[in-house]
Amino acid sequence: MSMFKDIPVDVGVIYEGERIRKEDMYVELGGPKVKEKFELARVKKPEEVEDEKITIIGPDLKDMDEGKTYPFGILIEVAGPTLEPELEGVIERRIHAYCNYIEGFMHLNQRYDIWLRLNKKSFQKGLNSFQYIGKVLHRLFKSELPIIEKIQVTFITDPEKAKELYNEAIKIYEARDARARGLKDEEVDKFYGCILCQSFAPTHVCVITPQRYSNCGAISWFDGRAAANIDPKGPVFTIEKGELLDPVKGEYSGVNEAVKKKSLGEITRVWLYTAFGYPHTSCGCFEAVAFYIPEVDGFGIVHRGYRDIAVNGLGFSTLADSTAGGRQVDGFHGISIEYMRSPKFLQADGGWNRVVWLPKEVKERVKDFIPAELLDKIATEEEAKTIDELKTFLKERNHPVVERWKEEVVAVEEAAPAEAKEEAAPMPVVTASTLPITAGGFKIILKDAKIYAKKVIVRSMKSEKTEKR
Ligand code: SF4
Repeated sequence: MSMFKDIPVDVGVIYEGERIRKEDMYVELGGPKVKEKFELARVKKPEEVEDEKITIIGPDLKDMDEGKTYPFGILIEVAGPTLEPELEGVIERRIHAYCNYIEGFMHLNQRYDIWLRLNKKSFQKGLNSFQYIGKVLHRLFKSELPIIEKIQVTFITDPEKAKELYNEAIKIYEARDARARGLKDEEVDKFYGCILCQSFAPTHVCVITPQRYSNCGAISWFDGRAAANIDPKGPVFTIEKGELLDPVKGEYSGVNEAVKKKSLGEITRVWLYTAFGYPHTSCGCFEAVAFYIPEVDGFGIVHRGYRDIAVNGLGFSTLADSTAGGRQVDGFHGISIEYMRSPKFLQADGGWNRVVWLPKEVKERVKDFIPAELLDKIATEEEAKTIDELKTFLKERNHPVVERWKEEVVAVEEAAPAEAKEEAAPMPVVTASTLPITAGGFKIILKDAKIYAKKVIVRSMKSEKTEKR
């Protein structure tokens, strides 16, 4: 039975984390196939909001063709005497959780990246109108955030209107992020944490500092502060910084304690500004992945919207799988686009001096934050599609990582005995702070593992099965 009698499907936290596969979906809203998708919350004056009003611009769920994908926008307008525009980001991020509470309705990602699916079963049960979704949103927002006095929700599926509002939303996100820039981690005595993604990644804890934006790119330090103030028992909480243990890697005693507590002992240390050692955990809705490329000793970055394979031959989803789930994986790091604009971005690893490749679209978005002397030294898919092409490009442009190659060769030559000089220094093929291996009914966990191999054979399980048949 539903938590709300007038909603045809069940609503509750137990549905969070529910995935809807393509074959089970009735319709898809937003997602990788369409550009025009967004969710936006705006704080308005009381007279501008008609409480509980639901507007649908474009086809409603029942007017959509089964199996199709539609452009999609959700606009939430709220009013209340103590509501500040500062809370917009926090309210907006709750759309993710509340949509996921609806049985058979899946919401992934955030802002301009949203991806929703309705499954066939829930549609057949009667969930055939955005009116129902709107009602659920009204009720959950008002009950969980009582400072919201009035709320109206607009769903946009009309392609023209979605496009118009999408462009507006992008400008609003940018203005919001820009407002949060400038403040330094050293200037505050509190950070904020978020565990909203634990429904998907049970050991994940986001540590939100002025200079390390949340992984999803939707919650700044200011948003975190506002959220922790209005809803102290909610998913966003205060972290006392404690003692600064390492200013370069970004280790704070208070962060370690808070993360240990919130990850139920699984994660005990976090280094905020590095992808190695004890990197910040990665949930599943990070905007991009920074991945170490051992062949050039530098980082590639690939964002969620990139449809092609990255320079190391892997696509975003494979790279995302290598880091997601609330783990700390050496050299694979879920990040937000805004963190790339921070002076602390991968600071301990060399920052932008260590970045060698990223898609053109991302480079364009963050180019004002890349040191000018590096701008034409970092390759995009237009300059390098393979590691060999990347090596040639980096050498030609004299990228700072090229210096590291020389240093490594000298170091190896000095360290190696004469008879061993012929052999090149082996690069680890896998490095991980925690590497679980499941075999023969046992799970073996290797801590701080580095695996060297003479040869690596990558074979798809599918072809193996076919071969055996
Ligand atoms: S990515 Fe982090 S900040 Fe964003 S919702 Fe998830 S846990 Fe919260």
